[in-house]
Amino acid sequence: MTSFSPGAVRHLPPVVNEPIRSYAPGTPERASLQARLAAMETERPDIAAVIGGKEIRTGATRQATSPHKHRHVTATWHQATADDVHAAIADGQRAWRDWSERAWEERAAVFLRAADLLAGPWRDTINAATMLGQSKTVFQSEIDAACEMADFFRFNAAFAQELYAEQPVSGPGVWNQMEYRALEGFVFAVSPFNFTAIGGNLSGAPALMGNVVLWKPAATQMLSAWYTLQLLQEAGLPPGVINFVPGDAAMISEIALTHPELAGVHFTGSTGVFNAMWETIGRNMGRYRSYPRIVGETGGKDFMIAHPSADPIAFAVGVIRGGYEYQGQKCSACSRIYVPKSLWPKVKEHLVAMIADIKVGDVNDFSNFMGAVIDEKAFDRIQGYLDDAKANATILAGGGASKADGYFVQPTLVEAKDPSYRLMCEEIFGPVVTAYVYDDAKWEETLQLVDRTSPYALTGAVFAQDRAAIAQAHRALRHAAGNFYVNDKCTGAVVGQQPFGGARASGTNDKAGSKLNLLRWVSARTIKETFVPPTDYRYPFMG
Ligand code: NAD
Repeated sequence: MTSFSPGAVRHLPPVVNEPIRSYAPGTPERASLQARLAAMETERPDIAAVIGGKEIRTGATRQATSPHKHRHVTATWHQATADDVHAAIADGQRAWRDWSERAWEERAAVFLRAADLLAGPWRDTINAATMLGQSKTVFQSEIDAACEMADFFRFNAAFAQELYAEQPVSGPGVWNQMEYRALEGFVFAVSPFNFTAIGGNLSGAPALMGNVVLWKPAATQMLSAWYTLQLLQEAGLPPGVINFVPGDAAMISEIALTHPELAGVHFTGSTGVFNAMWETIGRNMGRYRSYPRIVGETGGKDFMIAHPSADPIAFAVGVIRGGYEYQGQKCSACSRIYVPKSLWPKVKEHLVAMIADIKVGDVNDFSNFMGAVIDEKAFDRIQGYLDDAKANATILAGGGASKADGYFVQPTLVEAKDPSYRLMCEEIFGPVVTAYVYDDAKWEETLQLVDRTSPYALTGAVFAQDRAAIAQAHRALRHAAGNFYVNDKCTGAVVGQQPFGGARASGTNDKAGSKLNLLRWVSARTIKETFVPPTDYRYPFMG
């Protein structure tokens, strides 16, 4: 059923990026968010699985806590059982017929409304949940949970319109059409902890294109994932279009990935988990009704390289923001830097001074630049890298960590003499940046080194004033990063402006927040209609 009357060719309202609010002292948005934060500190939602619009509480509960105050419980959540997962897939199939056949404008309207609700009455809730649940500062939360998620919903609607408008040419007497059908079956969306907006996009983008989605959020993003789902429901998403199944990742994946109706996987997370999912699908080929679309954006070992002509202070500021914001837990976070000997004293001096100035702590205190890392497992992993650096490299700043009250890791700068030292190659996912100082004369060799040091190819940046050096970096690093920056930090991609994703071990590079991504969620049908068909089988040449 559609509420859009057939008598119009519609164009969506123009879309723009959601403006970022400052939350500076004295602003109304600061007061309003602080009030919501205070209220949320005392709430403890009882998060359910949601299947066909019904909330299912299994009683097998887990607690969500604040990383910066890990004794503080933010929510209780019920883990879906295997039966619930089967029921969710079956319910999705029920919802599919109606949703996949709705006018695309109707689906777009749901997401445009969700974006406006998010930018308006839901903004404080989604920001507060992201701050308390994932330990983001107000600014990191605002650019993710409020702005990026609204941008995903609005821009994807606009990209969908462009895609649907792409139609083949027609010769005389013939009308050719392309119909961008939803995939038959369901899309399995598996989201990471580090961006609230990614959860909304992994589930939302396939749904926008008419698919039904089974969404499994990360345990450590449960609070903001729950509010994202509530937001979509309030925006008018029909029951069953996105079924929400929190719970045991391996169990849920095993059921979803071996199901004959699996039409696609929309994943963001670590490379190892994605590889295992792909292997499961490979082992089960022959079971599926269609070839599943497999989209995964995975790990990174993102770099920043300075040329001897670079501005050392701009470079150092880029490293601080790119490396330590959100505690280095962005897939795009800068984690290895290459600095020429001639610039190193100045770059080092600035980095060490800025690191000494950075405040780490509870995100309720807006003067903190960093909060805590996500959980104890992450803390222990990062601590392991710090211990290794103490033994095998030089720690120039930071190096401290404590998990007494929250999982706090100081921003840390390490210098490595060996460019293949493990901290230069492996994804750490914490606030640790490792520097390698190269001879000024070895610029070209160093570009090669950057290219081959890690299996990932997500983001990277070059700083230089010399245009010839920038051109060399462009060429040498063509395949080393899917998002490449010139004189800018390697984080902070904006939907519609810098479509995001990397190749090699960083994923399938289907560019979240672009038409390329939406293409993966449709299966085109070509239709040819002949207005006056021939009535004689013979051709003129036969005369
Ligand atoms: P993760 O791989 O631990 O978890 C991601 C999701 O996979 C979660 O929902 C988790 O529960 C689920 N999962 C875990 N084990 C599973 C299993 N055996 N089977 C199926 N699902 C399973 O990643 P994370 O710690 O949440 O996020 C950090 C990672 O995500 C980093 O590697 C980071 O680089 C990557 N990331 C990449 C991008 C990108 O765009 N390339 C963006 C954000 C994060």
